[in-house]
Amino acid sequence: MPSVSKDNSFADKKVLITGGGSGIGADLAQAFAEAGARVIIAGRTEAKLQQVAAAHSRIEYRIADVTDAASVEALFSDIGSLDIVIANAGAASSAPLRKTSLEDWQRMLDVNLTGVFLTLQGGLNKLTDGGRLLAVASTAGLKGYPYVAPYCAAKHGVIGLVRALALETAKQGITVNALCPGFTETPLLDESLANISAKTGLSNTEARAQLTATNPQGRLIQPSDVSAAALWLASPAAQAITGQAIAIAGGELS
Ligand code: NAP
Repeated sequence: MPSVSKDNSFADKKVLITGGGSGIGADLAQAFAEAGARVIIAGRTEAKLQQVAAAHSRIEYRIADVTDAASVEALFSDIGSLDIVIANAGAASSAPLRKTSLEDWQRMLDVNLTGVFLTLQGGLNKLTDGGRLLAVASTAGLKGYPYVAPYCAAKHGVIGLVRALALETAKQGITVNALCPGFTETPLLDESLANISAKTGLSNTEARAQLTATNPQGRLIQPSDVSAAALWLASPAAQAITGQAIAIAGGELS
């Protein structure tokens, strides 16, 4: 856990984090709760959300599907005002474009792009003055990777959305930014490794080494690396930072 998360500087803040039941979202929830914030996590699987909420008294959860407008509306309807909204929920699937069905394409856009639109729009309506909107995009929002065209397209879309919304909200003291992690050690990465192994015959260790090698620092990103950047962007110190897509990738995009 980053040390900046332990100073109680978010004591009077309320944070919503979608996809908070695992991986990056779970770490974000823990980091903001440790920094004193009241945290609401949302996702589709109650057992996972319950487990994360049980780890800290300031974390509570709601069931919501970010691809479903009615579900997102219900989520925001009983939540009151918010200081920080983090659109983190996402999913990745891979296939060559030739073998990508319209259904696969739509599924990736629904969760990774429309889900962010619905979350940020709902969040904007509940945001206090000087509020913060964050989207967990990806390095796949800033460069291409083979076999994940729908995911890349959706994440590029998130960055466009963030840049436009930052300009719309600039005069209100609201900042809007995208976090762009490289390959990060989470359940989503485990799924990608299993998929690579199944399709290429590489062992899990070999597949992991291949993904690790994309990071010039020679390490996978940790969820706590993402949380440290989110805590900074959500802090008063980052008031002048808006409309940015910040790579958290050990130099992969330098
Ligand atoms: P993860 O552990 O699989 O977390 C994704 C979370 O999103 C899950 O808790 C999932 O919970 C939730 N979710 C998925 N679909 C949802 C929906 N329709 N409505 C509500 N919640 C939904 O993976 P992660 O790596 O932490 O991913 C978090 C974000 O980081 C994603 O946006 C991902 O694209 C991004 N990212 C990940 C990496 C990486 O290498 N791991 C790199 C760059 C960016 P339920 O299924 O229970 O709803």
